[in-house]
Order: sequence, then C-alpha cells, then structure tokens
Amino acid sequence: RHHPERRRFTVAELYYDDDADLSLIQSKKVAIVGYGSQGHAHALNLRDSGVDVVVGLREGSSSWSKAEEQGLAVATVADAVAAADVVMILAPDQVQRTLYSEQIEPNLKPDAALFFAHGFNIRYGYIAPSAGHDICMVAPKGPGHTVRREFEAGRGVPVIVAVEQDASGQGWALALSYAKAIGGLRAAGIKTTFTEETETDLFGEQTVLCGGVTALIQSGFETLTEAGYQPEVAYFEVLHEMKLIVDLMWEGGISKMRWSISDTAEYGDYVSGPRVITPEVKERMKEVLADIQSGAFADRFISDQDAGGPEFKELRTRGEQHSIETTGRELRKLFAWTETRDQDYTEGSV
Ligand code: NAD
Ligand code: MG
Ligand code: MG
Ligand code: MG
Ligand code: MG
Ligand code: MG
Repeated sequence: RHHPERRRFTVAELYYDDDADLSLIQSKKVAIVGYGSQGHAHALNLRDSGVDVVVGLREGSSSWSKAEEQGLAVATVADAVAAADVVMILAPDQVQRTLYSEQIEPNLKPDAALFFAHGFNIRYGYIAPSAGHDICMVAPKGPGHTVRREFEAGRGVPVIVAVEQDASGQGWALALSYAKAIGGLRAAGIKTTFTEETETDLFGEQTVLCGGVTALIQSGFETLTEAGYQPEVAYFEVLHEMKLIVDLMWEGGISKMRWSISDTAEYGDYVSGPRVITPEVKERMKEVLADIQSGAFADRFISDQDAGGPEFKELRTRGEQHSIETTGRELRKLFAWTETRDQDYTEGSV
C-alpha cells in the first residue's frame, strides 16, 4: 500500500494502484459511449494505458472528428457496443435510458460488463440490464478536463468505485483495473454503492453546491440592492468573493477559511450564519433528501425531459433573467483574465 497513513483518517475503504491489475482491462475491448467532458478523458487515458478503446457516437456527431483527431477509433454506438467486452456509458443521464434500449442493449454481448460514471439510471431502474452483465461504476470526483490533465501530469483524480451486479465474479477486479487505467488509483479509489453515490451526489448538488449556493447568493444580492446599495458592490460581496472563501475551505476546511478571514468576519460568521441558515433549513434539506430517496426527484426530472424539458427550459430562462446576471456580465469585463469566459460558455464548449 502506497498511502497507509491516509487510512487512519477515513472510515471509507480505499484502493490504490497496487490493489488493481491493469492487465485485466488491457485484455478487454472497451467502448466509450459519448465523447463529452468525461468521455474524452476516459477514452484518452485508457488508450494511453494500453487499453483497446473505441468511442461510440451518433452518426453526424460533432465529436466524431474530435475523437479521430486524437487518434481514437470511432464507430456508431451500435458497432462500438457490438465489439466490446466493457461498455462505459458517458452520455448525459437523461438520454441514457433510450440510448440503452435502442442502441446498446440490442447489440450488447451477453457477458459484456456495463460501466457508469453516475448511478442515476441504475439506481432508479431506468436501465435494468439482464443478469449476465457486470454493472460497475467508476466515477471521477472531478470534471473530465481535470481527469485528463492530471493523468497527463502523472497524477490522478480520485474515483469512487461500485459494483451493483457481479455476474462474472470479477466485477470488482475489473472496476479497479479500469479505475487504475484512467489514473484514478494514483490518488485513491473509494468504495461505495450505486445507491450511496446517486443519492449523495443529487443531495449535494441540489441543497448545497448548486441549488443552495445559488439561492443564497441571489437572496444576498436582492437584500443589498433592495436596500439601495449599488448592484456592482453587492455583486462583489456576495458572488465574486465566494471563490476566495471556497478555495480556502477546499484547501484546509472551514477552520482554515476562518483562520484566514478577519476576526470581524469570523465573529459575524458565528453569530449571523445560524440566523440565516436556521434549523428549518435542515428540515427542508431532509425533505429534499426524501424526494431523492423515493425517486420523486428522478421521476420529475425524467418526465419533464421526456416532454422536451418545458419546466427545465422555463427555470433556466428565469435564472438567466435575474438581475445579478446582468450586473455580473458587465463587471466581469473589468477582469482581463475572464475576458472570453462568458462567450465560451454561451457557445456551449466543454
Ligand atoms: P457531457 O454532456 O459532457 O457529454 C455527453 C456526450 O454524450 C456528448 O458529448 C455526446 O458525445 C454524447 N451524447 C449526447 N447525446 C447522445 C445520444 N443521444 N446518443 C449518443 N451519444 C450522445 O456529459 P458528461 O458531463 O461527461 O457526463 C457523462 C456522465 O458522466 C454522466 O453520467 C455524468 O453524471 C457523469 N459524470 C460527469 C462528471 C463531470 O464532471 N461532467 C463527473 C462525474 C460523473
Ligand atoms: Mg457530484
Ligand atoms: Mg451530479
Ligand atoms: Mg468583504
Ligand atoms: Mg482570522
Ligand atoms: Mg450543462
């Protein structure tokens, strides 16, 4: 074991490079379905680890030439799957069910292993593979572009690993071999289950990381501007500086952040934080968690997506129309280093 000292700091079961046999995945043909954020990173890292990879894409996909330019073999999803011993599904969660039933399942070898980077479709039963398939998860805890960049630098992004169905009896060995090939076990593999990964991932993004933080920022911005403060000043105080605070917590936890800020800010944190995030907020969090656990959230999301996403599109438009977005667009022009970023994301580049 390379990092025995780390084991004392966690109750989770961890895996490192020494726990995995790379030759296992090297003996398989791997189809990567989708070539977005995760897809490009998995395909290139596997290829560079000596694995036989084919990328499966829709005919006419704009990613087709991008993957070929990187020297990868590309085929239709049907052809890629038909040849594969391992199929990693890295298409968006909401298209996986139809993609699976129409293009993957009919072409899947009876003993092919199915891999995922998020448990959503398995956890909620949108994909229910037959008993002959291993069902494994290798989910990097970082964006695909970081997964690729770290691999090229000789490091890795930690991964979480799970096996939902071990048809071959080799599911864990195969999942760890895959995790090693994408560089994840250079950092660590953390053992989890499809259920734990899916429910905690949805809870985290809904209540804290995405939903919680955006609602907090918008409420703070509204409170200041409604009280007559300048929107530009309010923007700096409630949004721009968020990154500095989050970076400190990321480096050294809440304690390091509190050590770094002024005593005034630290005292205000203690006395006013709990006035804003009251015990009722935690009760609401429990309700959100219950909707995640019951499948009510998944059902609402997928039903809306199946109808063409009317609710999703309306909510997205409403979010884009919040006055903090207008203020931010103008202010960010003052920062030379962010000059092109707004344009990048509106053009949809990954
Ligand atoms: P993405 O949106 O970046 O890319 C998805 C790709 O799928 C597209 O680029 C396209 O090549 C392909 N695609 C789209 N529609 C398709 C269709 N109908 N048929 C075939 N191919 C299609 O997605 P992503 O963010 O890489 O997410 C992929 C999976 O990885 C998801 O399960 C996600 O939850 C998981 N994941 C993502 C991240 C992340 O940081 N983005 C991190 C961990 C896990
Ligand atoms: Mg997540
Ligand atoms: Mg998520
Ligand atoms: Mg300040
Ligand atoms: Mg301090
Ligand atoms: Mg998006």
